[in-house]
Amino acid sequence: MSFYYNLCSSSSGNASFLGDAEGGILFDAGVGIRNFKKLLEAAGLTPDSVRAIFLTHEHSDHVKGLEAISCRHGIPVYGTEATLRSLLDSGRLSGSQEIQVLDGPARVCGYEIHPFPTSHDSPGSVGYRVHTPDGVTAGICTDLGYVSQPVLQGILGCDFVMLESNYDEEMLETGPYPYFLKKRIAGRQGHLSNRQCAETLEKLIRSGTRQIALAHLSEHNNLPQLALESATDYLARQGIRQGDDYEIDVLPKVSQGKVTVLAC
Ligand SMILES: [Zn+2]
Ligand SMILES: [Zn+2]
Repeated sequence: MSFYYNLCSSSSGNASFLGDAEGGILFDAGVGIRNFKKLLEAAGLTPDSVRAIFLTHEHSDHVKGLEAISCRHGIPVYGTEATLRSLLDSGRLSGSQEIQVLDGPARVCGYEIHPFPTSHDSPGSVGYRVHTPDGVTAGICTDLGYVSQPVLQGILGCDFVMLESNYDEEMLETGPYPYFLKKRIAGRQGHLSNRQCAETLEKLIRSGTRQIALAHLSEHNNLPQLALESATDYLARQGIRQGDDYEIDVLPKVSQGKVTVLAC
């Protein structure tokens, strides 16, 4: 039985686990080593449960605990060549851990992990489509300016999708960020707004997705309730009903231990 567990999700730190009782994969390591252990324990997991770390990209909110966690616990690190190169060149990865360059699908303890490119201001950034040993398909997709064709192909038809719902367009527009930053976030290599997320969810649910997790909410330009309502209201207007047609969670900034059992 595969499950998804979000350790933390926001603009200040991202890490989530997908696996089963035998072990699984950590997607991103934007969590300090002590919190890593503590948050795993909250869900009955230990560092030994983590068999590999797959990186989406090299921004600090995704890699800040990477060096310490991978070295201390002997966990191999998987990423695209550009992501790994940037981390090694900047000294954020020492190279003393096992490093695997992703140039196609990979297999870790029965999980098949397919990377797909995302449009973000970080070279080699990717999302992942995962096939679990018990036949579930899951999509992991954050940090993208828009939903490109490869992204849509990557997540369409997944049973479970964790998708970024980064900002509310009005909050960003009227919020405290300087103009250049607003432009970056709303740009083609920035982040997905609640509206862009909701429009994508419609396509996903029509393709068979039943479990949704809204991820990577901005702390300044979004609110959990706003992200949730923006999705459910939009979907309701398309005749798609929460409960009947899909289940949805907003991932908390830091987990309280809630695990989502994945079903196909
Ligand atoms: Zn991020
Ligand atoms: Zn990023």
